[in-house]
Amino acid sequence: MINRYIDPEKIDIKEDCAEIDEIYAGERIEGFSLRGFELVEKADSFEDGIELVIPSFLSDVEVAGFHIKVACELSEEAVSALESLIGEVLNRIKGVEYKFRKEKVVLNLTNIDQKTFECMAKLLYDAFKKIPVVEKVRVKIILDKEEFDKILKYAARKHEERERLFQRKEGEVDKFYICTSCQYYLPGHGCVISPERPSPCGTTWIEAKAAEELEVVKYYSPAKKGEKIAESEYLGVNSAIEAVTEGKISKISLHSVLKNPPSIGLYSELIIFYDPDKDGFGIVDRNFKGKTPLGLTFEEMEKIMVGQQVEGFVGASYAYLKSEKFLKDEGGWNRVYWVSPNVYEYIKSFVDKRLLEKLKGN
Ligand code: SF4
Repeated sequence: MINRYIDPEKIDIKEDCAEIDEIYAGERIEGFSLRGFELVEKADSFEDGIELVIPSFLSDVEVAGFHIKVACELSEEAVSALESLIGEVLNRIKGVEYKFRKEKVVLNLTNIDQKTFECMAKLLYDAFKKIPVVEKVRVKIILDKEEFDKILKYAARKHEERERLFQRKEGEVDKFYICTSCQYYLPGHGCVISPERPSPCGTTWIEAKAAEELEVVKYYSPAKKGEKIAESEYLGVNSAIEAVTEGKISKISLHSVLKNPPSIGLYSELIIFYDPDKDGFGIVDRNFKGKTPLGLTFEEMEKIMVGQQVEGFVGASYAYLKSEKFLKDEGGWNRVYWVSPNVYEYIKSFVDKRLLEKLKGN
């Protein structure tokens, strides 16, 4: 059992440099949009404090990487869970909107100036420093593209290593998690997270577990699995999702697209869709702006399904593509006939060569 270290209500992150309040957590920002990543890792020898890596012209900035080092006795699981604290803190700042996770972060800002980034760094420093077991903190915000690309690659490797290290089977655990973070925008929404189905925005079961136990954030709640009533359906999970969605969704088949698929919040990395003409499935990523063979773009599909259970469409994270339970209810990879180019790049190291040839041709 991991001890409870943080009560988010008690992370007092007041600084004079910005207006900070939980009411800004649902704020939508139009203005500047930066590509980002987040990484929290354990380290021993570093200087406590904050650091900004800025390019020669701040007005040209396109990226923002958040790299936080902590010196502490926490496990790798717990340190990884601390990454959720970054969005939790930054979203409380007026004029700042932090979306998505890991290497897919998007940071929307009303203003781009050094003061804003310094303020973010200070707030993150304060928040991490308030965790009693954390002895030293180094908050680095990387705005320089060259340095950003370097650390982005490092962060992706680190997250992949953690995925491997944290692997669990659904049969080995007695509870899943429900994330309600998107309720700021989608009242009554919840995403189910199982060991073999990370959230559509990429949070793994072990991260949700550690975050809930640490009380880093308030939005992961455990859902007892209960009796297994079908290949990917559990009585306890159905009751939990029914309670969260106020009766809107009462059945979830975790590895299905066609029957009671999980619903998605705002941050799904991928959409898996059913194409009746092919009797098969396509997978499109958020950055693919063209039309899929179904005649719809990612954005158009997302509008149809966000916060809803829509048979024929389901959201997923890249990490789910590696799951042994991937689309288990529908026949798995054999039923996939089309993927967008980014998805192809991602799967080519682990999907069967013959299938890859078929997907390349489509
Ligand atoms: S998309 Fe789902 S899992 Fe991700 S933050 Fe929103 S509610 Fe949570």
